[in-house]
Amino acid sequence: MIGFQKKAPYTEEVIGEEPLNLPPIRFETVALWFDLPPGVIRGMEETRLDLAGGLHAVEHAAIAILPLFALCDRNDIGGVSTPLHPDTGRAQVFIYDAYPGGIGIAEKGFDLLPELWQATLMAITECLCHDGCPSCIQSPKCGNNNRPLDKEAARVLLEGLVGIK
Ligand SMILES: [Zn+2]
Repeated sequence: MIGFQKKAPYTEEVIGEEPLNLPPIRFETVALWFDLPPGVIRGMEETRLDLAGGLHAVEHAAIAILPLFALCDRNDIGGVSTPLHPDTGRAQVFIYDAYPGGIGIAEKGFDLLPELWQATLMAITECLCHDGCPSCIQSPKCGNNNRPLDKEAARVLLEGLVGIK
């Protein structure tokens, strides 16, 4: 859905939702994607952590961090995450250049993936919030109202990616 929410000052209470009818923008671009360690995903299912929320939170946090490596703005990058991608049959996080044809950000991110995972994990673990905030896993331009998001699940996924667990 494309639209915006009206929130009360201070309390953040949602007092209105205004859908906007903008046509979707379609273009071909370049993306990076990565798999998640199967053992980590099994462990999350056993501990009932929210895999979809974790993947979505990893996607947002990585998009916030990637500009530090690729010298761009977070608005230059988009992302998609899903617990089961129809083409790959697995959980997936995609990060793509938000420009037709791509401008080299995804390639740069792909070359630096281990560093990106490490820095993203640090951003999440060092953020003092409890359930996620705009400094770590929330995105100002999320198309799904920042739902679902799970900070703990994101931490577990990133620890698996960097090989801590
Ligand atoms: Zn936070």
